[in-house]
Amino acid sequence: MTHSTDLSSQSEMVQSLDVDGNVLEVSPQWLAYTGYKQEEVIGKHFTEFLDQTSVKQVKLNFPHLKDYGFVDNVPLTLIRNDGVNEATILNGSSSYDENGQFLQTFCELRTLDYFKNSNIALITLLEKERFFKIILNLKANIAGLIAQEWEYTEFLRELELIFQEPAEIKTTCTGIHISKQALREKIELELKSFEQKNHIIDKVYTYDCQQLSEKFAIEAADFLIVMNLKNPMVEENQSTILLAIKSNIEQMTWLAAFQDIVNTLESAFSAFKNRIEKAQLIEELKSLASTDSLTGLYNRQKLKNVLTNAQDIFERYHRPFSCIMLDIDNFKQINDQLGHSKGDEVLVSIAQTLQIHSRKTDIVARWGGEEFLIVLPETKADQASILANTLCKQIQNLKVDKLKTCSASFGVTEFTQSDSIDTMLIRVDKALYQAKHQGKHQVVTL
Ligand code: GH3
Ligand code: MG
Ligand code: MG
Repeated sequence: MTHSTDLSSQSEMVQSLDVDGNVLEVSPQWLAYTGYKQEEVIGKHFTEFLDQTSVKQVKLNFPHLKDYGFVDNVPLTLIRNDGVNEATILNGSSSYDENGQFLQTFCELRTLDYFKNSNIALITLLEKERFFKIILNLKANIAGLIAQEWEYTEFLRELELIFQEPAEIKTTCTGIHISKQALREKIELELKSFEQKNHIIDKVYTYDCQQLSEKFAIEAADFLIVMNLKNPMVEENQSTILLAIKSNIEQMTWLAAFQDIVNTLESAFSAFKNRIEKAQLIEELKSLASTDSLTGLYNRQKLKNVLTNAQDIFERYHRPFSCIMLDIDNFKQINDQLGHSKGDEVLVSIAQTLQIHSRKTDIVARWGGEEFLIVLPETKADQASILANTLCKQIQNLKVDKLKTCSASFGVTEFTQSDSIDTMLIRVDKALYQAKHQGKHQVVTL
């Protein structure tokens, strides 16, 4: 009695032999590969399908298979129905009844094609593994880059390096910081360099799978991927990254993997934009805190810092400095007669006059309602007084309206060894008061 085996469902080349080595059954794959019909094989001795060397191998190994229950990797040459020899490797095992009596053998034959195919399968598997590693690395490196809070241009440079790292990515051409037209030119140039190296360009794919151009052919790279990303850091709100890729992994898989990278980069770009806007806002706030909104001059708070600095320099380097305080004469009248907004206009034009006629290094500030203070570094009282007189004349030249001109009174003083900021301010205020008292529209130096 033999064990019943069903080899019809086997996808490999398998066979079962009886005690003597006669064929009991073969799988459809066995028949397909050798080209024999079932009836030409069943009941025949297995060695009838082998060359002479293989017959010897069987004689040598069959007793082992029967006695020990297995044989491994026995090289055999099968003679196919069309007479062609086929090298195979046989692996076999035996089965026994409950009394330990040998029943039959069960063998698998592996052809060269089998090994080739499994080799290809292995290579494909390794390529896939490598691909996933590349994508993972790209993602990790980009995430790392974002975490480092680079400046925008440094970020772009580092990004190019990251894309160039994997051997599969031949070149990168990021148009992140250039216009669409310039990018197009850059791409054309890139493609030409491929042509010059005698590479055949296959196809050019855009990120959204629109073909940018099909006229180029690449050999060094299998395909190009052009990724268009939203980027508020550039005028057109769009950046482009061109990647030439040489890989056995198909382009759609690459494209799908880049979807995540595109998303990450897009959020990085908008984070850059936010960061810059925030910095600008802080700058604006800082400047608002130190300037007067009507005239654009420094305000009283800022000028106090300026005075403290000037005092420091005076004490450390013994450099002189002076200040001029001025107050518009009869300003209440201007407001009353011509209106508050006209008064505002006068304040603005006086502020401009003060800035135009003082030196760049002088610091002009609005001290109060219609009072101004000017700090003059490297200036002694006599020079400050000359400037105050010039300003006095210039203000008189300003026309308030057709009939009216305006004037201002000035106090001038120089910082001395025994001064503090407060004592200096008290003295200059006193000089101004004196100018008012003496009839306005004049300069008093104390
Ligand atoms: P004097 O010659 O003695 O300095 O007389 P004055 O009228 O200039 O001085 P007073 O202190 O009596 O009046 C100053 C006026 O300046 C009162 C206030 O309403 C006005 N003023 C203060 N700040 C502003 C402002 O920002 N815009 C306008 N239009 N007027 C202002
Ligand atoms: Mg006043
Ligand atoms: Mg006044």
